[in-house]
Amino acid sequence: MAMLITDVEVVGLRVPAPDRPNEWGEDGVVVRVHTDEGLVGVGETDSSPEVIRALIEAPYSHSTCMGLREALVGTNPLHIRQRWQEMYDATNYVGRRGAGIHAMSAIDIALWDIAGQYHEVPVYELLGGRFHESLPAYGTFIPVRSPADNAARAVTLKERGLRAAKFGGAEFGFDIEADGETIARVREAVGPDFDLMIDLVGRWGTHALASKAIERYEDYRLAWVEEPLPPDDHAGYARLSEHSRVAIAGGEALTTRYEFASFLSAAKPHVVQPDITRCGGITEMVRIADLAAMQGVRLVPHGFSTGILNAATIHFLVSRPEADLMEMSQSDSPLFTSLVVDPVTTQEGRVAPPDGSGLGVVLDDNTLDNYRIF
Ligand code: MG
Repeated sequence: MAMLITDVEVVGLRVPAPDRPNEWGEDGVVVRVHTDEGLVGVGETDSSPEVIRALIEAPYSHSTCMGLREALVGTNPLHIRQRWQEMYDATNYVGRRGAGIHAMSAIDIALWDIAGQYHEVPVYELLGGRFHESLPAYGTFIPVRSPADNAARAVTLKERGLRAAKFGGAEFGFDIEADGETIARVREAVGPDFDLMIDLVGRWGTHALASKAIERYEDYRLAWVEEPLPPDDHAGYARLSEHSRVAIAGGEALTTRYEFASFLSAAKPHVVQPDITRCGGITEMVRIADLAAMQGVRLVPHGFSTGILNAATIHFLVSRPEADLMEMSQSDSPLFTSLVVDPVTTQEGRVAPPDGSGLGVVLDDNTLDNYRIF
């Protein structure tokens, strides 16, 4: 008898808002896929907990507009590509992009976790084995107002052995001159032998402003400029990529191989950044990575969430010959630092996948109890 899925449980988490800039990890959503053999797979998506709950728990509307739980219960969790396609088809009207794919991503990651536990191997073995024991990491932090404090933060990362740092969000991206002072102070503090990246979260808005800012920052030798423009401005991206001397990065907001195929061909980024918890999970990330590799585009996954995301990302990355860098959030949100017992961490600037079966993550019951909202 085949193993069957018995339930898809959605766990919403929220940390009371602290007195600081937002975007540090206030909420989270975890899914647990249960089976009749007692194996439980864990996944997450970096998305809105309430929206994800609705997409998973919604009752049957019609055959192309189903809740994901109903589409999955009673099916074999080990046939992951079949499950992926069925979820995609069952949510044709409400899914296919955006939050529908976010919800599928969380479930897909949980299915890979179940398969690894069932076969008693780490997920990277299921992906065909690993090309890397570990990979270098870069640290991402949300900047504060004081350029000196941001410089100190970057120096700490360098001293911990990381090879690069990125900052963006909060007040950053609205004032080219003030931001330039911050970048200058950080560059001066870390010296020349350290990569720096900035993240604009689309805030420059227009090609004209973005090209002016990039020119203004040319002396700081940024390793990439991330999301200088909104994700749908492919023409703007393409003009920047073609004419700027700095690498242009983007893609964290995109879902499915279809959106990435368009982005790669029309926006022509130098670095593409799918988020494994949003783009369609591990299954879709592999397809996207094949597209990027075929076009010679560097893929460095986006990752700014819990230890579940970090584990899924590093299992995927070590299975890719071309992988060369992993993002590690430096946020101190308890959801990021403490949701998982024994989280993936940076050791001498590098990250290695857990050795256990599946994703190799165990949720921390105290953290769940403290912040669970549903
Ligand atoms: Mg970003």
